[in-house]
Amino acid sequence: MNCFDYTDIEFLLIAGAIYLFIAATVAKIGSYRVCGGTKAFITSIILTPFIGIIYALVSPQKHLIKTVHYRCTNCGLEYVSKYKYCPSCAKEGKYCRLEKVSMKTY
Ligand SMILES: [Zn+2]
Repeated sequence: MNCFDYTDIEFLLIAGAIYLFIAATVAKIGSYRVCGGTKAFITSIILTPFIGIIYALVSPQKHLIKTVHYRCTNCGLEYVSKYKYCPSCAKEGKYCRLEKVSMKTY
């Protein structure tokens, strides 16, 4: 016979899911910090998410460098400065618009 009541298992599953969800949230916060998402996640699982979030918040924030460049939708060439039309395609008589591409690097 199963020693667990059905509702007990259900409760454990829900509690476990909530626990993992909170730990994943802490990991997301940690991924923007020097400590990293994995360390924040492990800390949350072992030492509870409460300690995990403190651990993540105490760790300094990573430096974000946002680079913006412009990519031609036709030929795929990328430019650092903005042009009204792609200079490469304009030579061939095609006036293609450039789309803005922003990237985040740590
Ligand atoms: Zn082009």
